[in-house]
Amino acid sequence: MSKEKGTMIGLECHVQLNTDSKLFCGCKTTAEEPNSACCPICLGHPGTKPVLNAKALDYAMKVALALDCEINQEFFFSRKTYFYPDMSKNFQITQYEIPVGEKGHIMLSNGKKVGITRVHLEEDPAALVHTEGMGSSNFCLVDYNRSGIPLVEIVTDPDMETPEEARDFLDQLTIILSYLKVFSPTTGTLKADCNVSVYGNNRVEVKNVSGKKGVEKALAFEVARQKHVLLEDKEIAMETRAFDEEKGTTRATRSKETEADYGYIFESDLTAFRLKKSEIDEMRNKLPELHGAKSKRFTEAFGLDEYTSKVLAGNFALGNLFEQVAKDTDANLAANFLTRELMAVVNRSELDIDSLELDSKEISSMLSLRSSGKITEKVAKDAIIVYLTKGVKPTKFIDGQGLAMDLNKGEIEKAVEKAMAENKAAVADLKRGKQKSLNFIVGQVMRLTRAKANPKEVQNIILKRIKGE
Ligand SMILES: [Zn+2]
Repeated sequence: MSKEKGTMIGLECHVQLNTDSKLFCGCKTTAEEPNSACCPICLGHPGTKPVLNAKALDYAMKVALALDCEINQEFFFSRKTYFYPDMSKNFQITQYEIPVGEKGHIMLSNGKKVGITRVHLEEDPAALVHTEGMGSSNFCLVDYNRSGIPLVEIVTDPDMETPEEARDFLDQLTIILSYLKVFSPTTGTLKADCNVSVYGNNRVEVKNVSGKKGVEKALAFEVARQKHVLLEDKEIAMETRAFDEEKGTTRATRSKETEADYGYIFESDLTAFRLKKSEIDEMRNKLPELHGAKSKRFTEAFGLDEYTSKVLAGNFALGNLFEQVAKDTDANLAANFLTRELMAVVNRSELDIDSLELDSKEISSMLSLRSSGKITEKVAKDAIIVYLTKGVKPTKFIDGQGLAMDLNKGEIEKAVEKAMAENKAAVADLKRGKQKSLNFIVGQVMRLTRAKANPKEVQNIILKRIKGE
């Protein structure tokens, strides 16, 4: 047992592409009533022929390019033969010999590079609905709505060493997919087959794990299980396992077959695809700026710290909103406010920032009031809560409630004088250098002015008076 090779994790991610229609026919991808969106093509009736959805191919190529893959100028589809109720034509149309792209990579947030072995396009099989516990007999239903939905499969090299790195990989991947607008995190599915081995022993594949959290959990269990098997001086079986999401455990399903067992053959109903180098270059040039480049630009252009830039660029909608808001107000204030206060409301209220349609001018106007000291931090926080949860615009909220500070200097001076006269002990403490007393007196002034004074200004007036006396 060599400990030189630590834990090695590789993922095969299946991501649903958000096209309106399926991969090889015109059926809708969004039907709810079971078996309502299927036709002879996606059911594989004899004599039907698939026609490739050009948009799905375009999306898969974008993914491959964004992952820095080499794009194959010629590729084709293959039939992966297997017999199972989820595939009524007994083969799945996928890519095997030559995928859309190969040899790419993703950078993890810890700076580590994870290789992408390949990116290819394939159809989803039908969904099996197990009805255990329904009625007197156990049976299984098949919903062919899912049959033929386009998936892009992203296969990584076994470069990840911990479940956390695998989770981070999926985070980075989904950010890229959201920038490309090819995947919907709310309606689309993301599943992964997780390959894991410890200390150079046999590799185990945990099949069909749903979601990022699921992958992290399944891997954490599997790594611990394999290490435990070795501690008992037993051998790790090369096998396929299933993940039980509720229990957080994996269990053996069948001994692992090799890819060759599927008997891939060329899909003769689809022609081979040939692309000119110039066409590939044109697509590469048309790729949007991705989060890595955007985050770097934010740091350089606005002088933000690296972490804040990453948080902003890590969410497509948030990054765009920041750029709009920063046009009209202090960029640092905007960055901090959006990443902390705005995102806190979004997360707490479980809002979808993509569909909020926020008015950047409203937010920049409010932040300008904040930076000039006309509203307090609390008012700014309240305004954004009311805006996000009730749709009341910040300027309207502030004007309507009379929250902007409109006290003149004389009124503030008067309030300071009163607060100092009423709190002689605190004033004496402050003179002796007790900083806490300053905060206390400022608090008293804020109470007297009903929080309409600028605390910083109040503080300065108090300190001037202390020195003057
Ligand atoms: Zn169909």
